[in-house]
Amino acid sequence: MPYFIDVILPLPLQKRFTYAISEAEANFLQEGMRVAVPFGKSKIYTAITAAIHQNPPQVYEAKPINQILDKAPLITNHQLKFWNWIASYYMCAEGEVLKAALPGAFLLESESIVQLTKEANIEETELKDEEYLVIEALQRQSSIKIQEVAKILDKKNVLPILNELVQKGLVLLNQEIYEQYKPKKIRYVRLNSMYDNEANMHRLLDELENAPKQKEALLSYFSLKAQHKKPLKAKELSDKSGVSAAIIKSLIKKEILEEFYKKTDRVSFEEESSLTNIKLSEIQQKAFSEIEAGLVEQDVCLFHGVTSSGKTEIYIKLIEKVIDKGQQALYVLPEIALTTQLIDRLRAYFGDKVLVYHSKYSVNERVEVYQHILQDSEKARIVIGARSSIFLPFANLGLVVVDEEHETSFKQFDPAPRYHARDAAVVLAKLFKAKIILGSATPSLESYFNAQHHKYAFVELNRRYANVLDPEIEIVDIKTKYKKKEMKGHFSDRMLTEIKDTLDGGEQVILFQNRRGFSPVLECNTCGHSPQCPNCDVSLTYHSHNNQLRCHYCGYHIAMQKKCMACDSPEITTKGFGTEQIETELKAIFPDYKTARMDQDTTRGKYAYEKLINAFEQQEIDILIGTQMLSKGLDFRKVNLVGVMNADNLLNFPDFRAHERSFQLMLQVAGRAGRTKKRGKVLIQSYNPHHQIIQQVSTGDYSGMYKDQLEERYNYKYPPFHRLIRITLKCRDYSKTNDAAEWLATGMKNVFKENVLGPEFPPVARIRNEYYKNILLKIPQQQSLGKTKKVLQRIMESFRAIGAFRGVKIVINVDPI
Ligand code: ADP
Ligand code: ZN
Ligand code: ZN
Repeated sequence: MPYFIDVILPLPLQKRFTYAISEAEANFLQEGMRVAVPFGKSKIYTAITAAIHQNPPQVYEAKPINQILDKAPLITNHQLKFWNWIASYYMCAEGEVLKAALPGAFLLESESIVQLTKEANIEETELKDEEYLVIEALQRQSSIKIQEVAKILDKKNVLPILNELVQKGLVLLNQEIYEQYKPKKIRYVRLNSMYDNEANMHRLLDELENAPKQKEALLSYFSLKAQHKKPLKAKELSDKSGVSAAIIKSLIKKEILEEFYKKTDRVSFEEESSLTNIKLSEIQQKAFSEIEAGLVEQDVCLFHGVTSSGKTEIYIKLIEKVIDKGQQALYVLPEIALTTQLIDRLRAYFGDKVLVYHSKYSVNERVEVYQHILQDSEKARIVIGARSSIFLPFANLGLVVVDEEHETSFKQFDPAPRYHARDAAVVLAKLFKAKIILGSATPSLESYFNAQHHKYAFVELNRRYANVLDPEIEIVDIKTKYKKKEMKGHFSDRMLTEIKDTLDGGEQVILFQNRRGFSPVLECNTCGHSPQCPNCDVSLTYHSHNNQLRCHYCGYHIAMQKKCMACDSPEITTKGFGTEQIETELKAIFPDYKTARMDQDTTRGKYAYEKLINAFEQQEIDILIGTQMLSKGLDFRKVNLVGVMNADNLLNFPDFRAHERSFQLMLQVAGRAGRTKKRGKVLIQSYNPHHQIIQQVSTGDYSGMYKDQLEERYNYKYPPFHRLIRITLKCRDYSKTNDAAEWLATGMKNVFKENVLGPEFPPVARIRNEYYKNILLKIPQQQSLGKTKKVLQRIMESFRAIGAFRGVKIVINVDPI
């Protein structure tokens, strides 16, 4: 009897493929091992063994595999089941899930690029002959394709050799090299506390009469401290006072000044507390016990805890219990919230039992993390990671924490699998019979709905830790302010007063503006024309720092125009405003303070985001102006004022989730204010101060917001009452896009009737020269999701069989957000 295996190939194929194996191979192979297989005319891929059996395929002759690549399974059975669920739920190929799930280095194919690692430490004597040949070739040219390696070694299958070299840390495959960001330490100086005493101080100044330089340095120290109430850098002191670093050194030597270093973790030097011993407060303890009790009855617990209530500390305690039982814990966060701050905090408590899985880590690091988890090693008790960490090979998962569960970035947008990491994590936990906590200060409507309907356990914590008060939220009616001429640029007089007071007090300010660039649109006063992107249906935005007009979708850019491109009129104005314009205005008003922007433009480079956070923490920046990015779980101690520049452009966004999201965003940004004893202040500028959402934000009225929004969702048939599947057609040909969309929508309407919406062009209907058209399917609660998807698949199959629609791409998005 012949033997066969079904494999998952890292390609968007609808089915698994069957290959032939020998009896010996059948005895050795296990599900989850990698094999090298031929596919297509001449390509070799790494595939995953998903089933071993004796049934030959019906419609094709099974080709033999090239080689077995593992000695033991690299993929667990849980992973295979989980991938299968993701593929079927999100209507994509298992191969697409596979590609998202494994570090690229595990999936060598003939086109993969091989490079030497930078830190390669080559011990020639430890290399086998063939390995040596590969290394030698790489020393001559920086990168080669796997196919070329095959030629060099005159051998069909070289994957096992390359795998070995990856394991030895000598070569990299198919990957960019990232390095980890190490924040620099900064040296500060302060006066020895002995001289707080006035008598001592006088004596000191007398003593320094014969050391005029030192005295000068000391006097500069006083005057600098008086100007800015923030810590003083040693370098700043020598720069501003004009005395040499050596003089400052001598003051330190005499113990008149003390030097200290500020680290980047969130524990600031004034309140040196270490996390090695967390004691929950009484109300935290209560929430902790309620979560534990809730998780006895239910598998999922929604934890609604206001910002700064100490959710992290509670997670830590819950995680500790789980790892004490010998199980693994997974802590998932949005990429942007996965900061060095948080990692340091967990490492301070759990030591080297914490592994981090981050897309910015090098391949070798990711491979290493993967192996530790697979082996259930001591280092892999706790895994903290972004979205894709749910794909790791857990052996023994006991608890999953999804923090900031309302975050929309948990949903992968492109490419497939378009999964929602929170929802998928619930399924992952179920596979392991593990428990899962969804935490947020502003839960998603969907999760809150589940909690209200007792599908999830529910725990609330509505007080900030250590009696830190909720920030005081004030709404500024800028419509009236404009009328009364109490605006300076985009700043109300209230805002300016508060900014000034905060800065005078040596504290920091965060300003939130939901748009980047200087002025989104340039408009001609004569003919109304605004310059458009030639590739996308959007207006170009003006960026003042490089005097360019740019497209935010495809990166197209031209120099700023001096006259209208349509009518040559020089009367052009900029409409709307973004982070850049705010910064420009601010610099003019507060020239003595340092401002910075945090948006997609300023955080593009490697570590740019970390560097900004770092600089803000070190108080090298006084005012930080930013977009959404600011709202993500950052804990800055010295921020006492948060300003929302314009709440209206959040609220007016054309999306059924716009109101929910505005509420979440504003409350999250507000949560950045006043995280210490002093009560923080939040100012929200708006043209519609009586808008319900703004009122609800100002009182932190989550349940009011929930009730209103839920009613809307019910009336307009949206989640959580109806599920959604969005189908997007993409094509470079305009009329083909239209025809194809029309055909597909008609096919769907025949079955699903009035629950099909569209086809409709999205607000930006052309991106990179492709036209987009959407069809939305609403699925009532009582309608079977599985059957609906089957019908949809059938319609898609007929669609793909139509020659006229060839070249039209289809993207299916289940539960789009
Ligand atoms: P959240 O995640 O709910 O916004 P955090 O966990 O970041 O809140 O806590 C806010 C701040 O309070 C942090 O600086 C944290 O270290 C501190 N904190 C919270 N609970 C405790 C505790 N039990 N002991 C010591 N510090 C705590
Ligand atoms: Zn014009
Ligand atoms: Zn464009």
